[in-house]
Amino acid sequence: MKYVVVSGGVLSGLGKGVTASSIGVLLKSAGLRVTAVKIDPYLNSDAGTMSPFEHGEVFVLDDGGEADLDLGNYERFCNLNLFSDNNITTGKIYSEVIEAERRGDYLGKTVQVIPHVTDSIQDWIQRISAIPADGSGEKPEACVIELGGTVGDIESSPFLEALRQFQFRVGRENVCFVHVSLVPVMGPVGEQKTKPTQHTVKELRGLGINPDVLVCRAEAPLEQETREKLAAFCHISPGSVMSAHDVSNIYRVPLLLRDQGICDALGIDCNATDILRKWEKMADRVDNLGPEVHIAMVGKYTGLTDSYLSVIKSLQHASYAINRTLVIDWIEACNLENESHDDWDKLKSADGILVPGGFGDRGIEGKILAANYARVSKTPFLGICLGLQIATIEFCRNVLGLRGANSTEFDPDTPHPAVVFMPEISKTHLGGTMRLGSRPTIFQVEDCMIKRLYDGSSKVDERHRHRYEVNPDLISRIEEAGLVFVGKDETEQRCEIFELNDHPYYVGVQYHPEFKSRPEKPSPPFLGLLLAADGQKI
Ligand code: GLN
Repeated sequence: MKYVVVSGGVLSGLGKGVTASSIGVLLKSAGLRVTAVKIDPYLNSDAGTMSPFEHGEVFVLDDGGEADLDLGNYERFCNLNLFSDNNITTGKIYSEVIEAERRGDYLGKTVQVIPHVTDSIQDWIQRISAIPADGSGEKPEACVIELGGTVGDIESSPFLEALRQFQFRVGRENVCFVHVSLVPVMGPVGEQKTKPTQHTVKELRGLGINPDVLVCRAEAPLEQETREKLAAFCHISPGSVMSAHDVSNIYRVPLLLRDQGICDALGIDCNATDILRKWEKMADRVDNLGPEVHIAMVGKYTGLTDSYLSVIKSLQHASYAINRTLVIDWIEACNLENESHDDWDKLKSADGILVPGGFGDRGIEGKILAANYARVSKTPFLGICLGLQIATIEFCRNVLGLRGANSTEFDPDTPHPAVVFMPEISKTHLGGTMRLGSRPTIFQVEDCMIKRLYDGSSKVDERHRHRYEVNPDLISRIEEAGLVFVGKDETEQRCEIFELNDHPYYVGVQYHPEFKSRPEKPSPPFLGLLLAADGQKI
């Protein structure tokens, strides 16, 4: 088993996740079975209770794990299906250690960060890295481990210590340390500055970890002189200093690293493989897409691309499939509550409208207005989770004439609860208690657009994350008026997909299709939205 540890220095947001995923692609293209682990040093047990404002989207896994968005990067790049345990947090490790202490596993001992916490981290990595994640059912041969945060953070020090020890546990030759850093440009001649990288590597070496590869984020390619300087000051061979400069699209990143010889440093051969040829084709395709398609995204974290990362990726995947250039027009939902706001022009000029998932009541009325506009003007519309719920509320209010219809999430005293709290959900605990993870949806009709998009399957599995559902008592009235719940859960009671009659594409899904979209296999509801927005028939 080979391990590649990816750490980061200088500042966050350097693209460690993309680097780790790209290394995963290279390992895969060398013929290895790959898996990935993300370490998040925060104290939360998982990302489920964190705001997308602060931490980006919560990525949902098949097993219902609410994980860091980097797991989405690994799944999309390396075509994996990961588990909750592939995301390690301080919260999870300490819970495990404290539970073991209470059981008496360490009886007689003083329980300490070293060795108990550091052992628990190493055991966890070994345990989860042995579990198949690529669909082959066979044990992985290489594991990419990404350490969140930056070297020097107090919270990450037990993990760095654990990883330092790990090289002796599994053999130095089986671990490759990759450190991602920043090379800024300063001064009148635009000199590439190496000092921040020198400092972060010094810090890492002080903790006992010698990086084998340096990946340097920079605007322009690293100059030879910069490379040599970094090599000399960071105790690394010049051939192992990678320039990760800005490229036209992310599919170029694995190719960029390969072209600079990272495979030698990783001890793999990934020349002449089909996988990388496919990546080359993909990268070229993405640089040469056809005419624009505008999709209005009506949300509340607009502009914060990390908050809707998988939704954006899914729209992109669908746009590649139909060879169109995707333009996302961001619309802050609450702006639509003012009927003379400029965002109304943006909404009306879009080719398609998407209302993504969300929680809390800010912007709800604006989203309802957007759904109303899409329905009445016959503009292609996709509502995801909350998006399905607000479109149902809109339909109840304006088609069924149920004034004041709402979700009990936003108005507990609504006279017409169109969306209600699901009976099985905890009312006291918010962490990990939603309806989560992969669940089946059974199609209720012989034929409909969304079923065709899913290749006519009678059952599909998609990932969920919600506490509320369309009120089962209203379903037949809603359906009689033309909004048909064409997909339901296995009990055939709970709504999963709706489709409006006599509309080019007005679809709502209670699940989150964005978590299973892949670059070469776009998610069907997104593909439908893009096709309809481009004027194509489904
Ligand atoms: N807030 C809604 C619910 O809990 C929608 C959730 C979502 O969009 N993920 O049901």
